[in-house]
Amino acid sequence: MQIISVINQKGGVGKTTTVINLAAGLSHQDKKILVIDLDPQGNATTGLGLSNTDNSTDTIYDVLNGTKEISEVIKKTEFENLDMISSNVDLSGLEVETADDGNRAFILKLKLTAYLKDSGSLYDYILIDCPPSLSLLTVMALVSSHSLVVPLQTEFFALEGLTQLMKTIERIKVSLNPDLKIRGILLTMYDKRNKLSSQVEKEARDYFNDKVYSTVIPRNVRLSEAPSHGMPVLIYDKSCRVVDLILVLQMNLLIKKQLWGVLHNGLK
Ligand code: ATP
Ligand code: MG
Repeated sequence: MQIISVINQKGGVGKTTTVINLAAGLSHQDKKILVIDLDPQGNATTGLGLSNTDNSTDTIYDVLNGTKEISEVIKKTEFENLDMISSNVDLSGLEVETADDGNRAFILKLKLTAYLKDSGSLYDYILIDCPPSLSLLTVMALVSSHSLVVPLQTEFFALEGLTQLMKTIERIKVSLNPDLKIRGILLTMYDKRNKLSSQVEKEARDYFNDKVYSTVIPRNVRLSEAPSHGMPVLIYDKSCRVVDLILVLQMNLLIKKQLWGVLHNGLK
């Protein structure tokens, strides 16, 4: 069982899209998947067809504030092999509410560990969708995960935020989660007509070498439409040309043995 967080503190780079579609791709391969929506925006929740508006008391917030256990808040999605723990705006209060708890960075890890101990290995992968910040919630995800996938939008400034992210990951490795690995960097929203996309790709590959997945996710309308229908693109439009890429990427994730440590130096 692997716990993988999809992380980048930059907003709108394709984290949630990656989580939803990787989850769908892996569940298609008969892998049992649990998606945890760790973002108060609740985009992964709606993107997988569940509600993020109700005043429910069975979200990830209720686990992190100590009211519920993981097993009590897991919900079935309408997709086979794909369960989720939803989120809503309540989660935005957690940071203030837990201010006095010196161990709060470990709450998610402890809850997950207890759940996994009790339930055995029901899931092959737990995928965590992180919020666009380096806040408590992101630290919780970093502390709880075995490895990370970092989506990088092929736009200007994309690489700048990455330096800060790498420093944060390194800090977490040193102090809170020594085994944390980065699986790979995923280039997203690639537009082959735009010179900037190929420039950012070149810079990323020059710097991170084979750590950047060879599969690149292009800008694709179907991919952006699918969440408003509450479904992964694999189900929304099987014939969409991006589906093959997602399947390749997901195979990559399954077979890629090589994980890498964190780079210490910032980007030049
Ligand atoms: P946030 O930081 O707010 O959580 P995010 O990093 O999770 O954002 P997404 O929500 O996945 O990013 O994507 C941002 C927007 O871009 C969404 O409207 C999404 O539908 C769209 N999008 C993501 N990937 C693609 C793509 N390959 N082609 C076209 N649109 C995309
Ligand atoms: Mg998101």
